[in-house]
Amino acid sequence: MSKYSVSEQGFYGRFGGAWVPEMLYPNVENLRQNYLKILASDEFQTTYTSLMKDYVGRPTPLTYSQKLSDLYHAHIYLKREDLAHTGAHKINNAIGQVIMAKMMGKDRIIAETGAGQHGVATATACALLDVKCVVYMGALDIERQAPNVARMKMLGAEVVAATSGNCTLKDATNEALRDWISNPEDTFYVIGSVVGPHPYPDLVARLQSIISQETRLQLKEHTGSELPNYVVACIGGGSNAAGSFYHFLDDESVNLVAVEAAGLGLDSGETAASIARGTEGIIHGSRTMLMQTDDGQITEPYSISAGLDYPGVGPLHSYLHSCGRATVLSATDQEALDAARLLTRSEGIIPALESAHALAALPKLSFRPDDVVAVTVSGRGDKDMQTYMNRLM
Ligand SMILES: *Cc1c(COP(=O)(O)O)cnc(C)c1O
Repeated sequence: MSKYSVSEQGFYGRFGGAWVPEMLYPNVENLRQNYLKILASDEFQTTYTSLMKDYVGRPTPLTYSQKLSDLYHAHIYLKREDLAHTGAHKINNAIGQVIMAKMMGKDRIIAETGAGQHGVATATACALLDVKCVVYMGALDIERQAPNVARMKMLGAEVVAATSGNCTLKDATNEALRDWISNPEDTFYVIGSVVGPHPYPDLVARLQSIISQETRLQLKEHTGSELPNYVVACIGGGSNAAGSFYHFLDDESVNLVAVEAAGLGLDSGETAASIARGTEGIIHGSRTMLMQTDDGQITEPYSISAGLDYPGVGPLHSYLHSCGRATVLSATDQEALDAARLLTRSEGIIPALESAHALAALPKLSFRPDDVVAVTVSGRGDKDMQTYMNRLM
């Protein structure tokens, strides 16, 4: 038990909880009563561990970057989630939740997706594990993210358009919740980040914690010590950051750095920096920092990176920020683009735009020459090539 663990009632300090409508309560409560038992069971552990190894390709490498180390005067290591099957960390969570669903006797999976990355990861896990998959996606996002829609369909998922509101992620989430209320018996809702009502933030953090579990062992091999001086990760909802931080939370000598998307700038009005520019409120069943108007309307976030374009942040991160355990920085669109080019040209690794935000934070930190820094490259940049072509070439 860490002092940063979620409480029995689902809180991190004053953040978190399960603020759900009455009709959803039985579903969430059923999951709450089962998730820790299932995670600890031999059946779950055997299946999850072997799929992480033989299907996802874990452990993902920890790559030493000589060039970034020379540039930033510290020892920079890259945790390569871009090399996981499907190209990002999201598969760690999707496979874990689909195994859990099956162990709970559910044979129908629903999910919501914005940019489509979580939808693709969930559809992948469902194809592998033979369960029906329905993905809710805003009608506008379906238009904007055609390649991921095609992937989900090829994987056998049904993609349902959400046509209310702005026709984006928030509306897709509402549709998914409505579906879950109507189908409590056979359906499991796979949430894609450390957000939503308890127990989801804790469940997703535990499933992604394989990242920091591996980093510790790999750092030991590379440097002789399991502990870096810094761990740096981008945050949209915060799942790759939660997984990257998890096994370092109680090692207070390790600086945890979360990087939000500043969009066009923190004060531009076009930003997704929920901690830097948000206020406390409730979003998707959880009390956390979010971007809202004075009368509590959620504001549409903006970032060049679709995966960071979320108006809230997981309650764990609001808590780590509020108690000073984590440092929260931000990077603008342009800083992320520049960082993506730098990594590509110096190491031959094209990062996802999301991951480029984490890399863009490196020049903002003042390292000592002996410092060991682990930066999570949450995903690969294939999906962002159009943006890179338009903005960098
Ligand atoms: C979805 C995504 C993110 C943001 O989600 P988190 O839950 O904050 O990790 C970051 N990087 C990549 C590559 C993604 O696909």
